Amino acid sequence: MKQQIFFGIIVVLILSALFLVLPQLPSNNTQNKGIIIFNMDDIQGNWLEDISKTLVETHIENEADVVLGVIPQNLDNMIPYIKDWYSNHKDVVEIAQHGLNHTVVYRGKTYDRQQELIKMGKNIFLSIGVEPKTFIPPFSELDNTTLKVLSENGYEETLTHTGKGYSSGNILVISNVVFLCESEYVGYNCTIKKTEKIVEEIEKNIDESGVAVIFYHIQDFATEENILDTEKHETLKDIISFLKNSGKYEFMTANEYHHKIS
Ligand SMILES: [Zn+2]
Repeated sequence: MKQQIFFGIIVVLILSALFLVLPQLPSNNTQNKGIIIFNMDDIQGNWLEDISKTLVETHIENEADVVLGVIPQNLDNMIPYIKDWYSNHKDVVEIAQHGLNHTVVYRGKTYDRQQELIKMGKNIFLSIGVEPKTFIPPFSELDNTTLKVLSENGYEETLTHTGKGYSSGNILVISNVVFLCESEYVGYNCTIKKTEKIVEEIEKNIDESGVAVIFYHIQDFATEENILDTEKHETLKDIISFLKNSGKYEFMTANEYHHKIS
């Protein structure tokens, strides 16, 4: 009987010790995971809208967070969808401002001109009840003036693969980009990289910074007839499920990532 009490006490002591130690052991929590931000660019009205909608749906269904580079001057028939994603799918879809009309390069423009362009774009979003926090410069081209203007207009971060070395105000410059296509600006002729190659590039970016942005355009998924290339769509789904099932990564929007690290 005495022995049983003795063992009982030992067991209680061991269990108590475990409860003290366990929370400090590395576990499968988010702190140890690499962050992945998908960035889908060039969303606008009256142009490949069905492809945009299908791809966004894929991200929502798989909870693979995506930042949409939306061109404010051409919203038109995309407005109801932009509003829906902004209001009802905020945890997965972030609406980012992609310039004003996609023809103007911001880098090198005067402070006044950049103020004008960025404000015009932002006001279009505000008029439909959307407040973008992330700015994606057309052609990925910005400078410190762009960052200053963004900071003064309530933005918090920018996604650009040419942004290394720029800093101004409180804007976080996220430039750790992995291109989904074999080459940067191919659009319709995009060949999606093999999953192993994408993972290799993600690992490299995550080693350096803890984050990797997987970048693509909606037109990368269009056939010559301007409909969704179903084969490429399947490849995207495969990549998303591979990354998800690896358990090594966490998907975030750019704004969510910024708030997490600051
Ligand atoms: Zn673009």
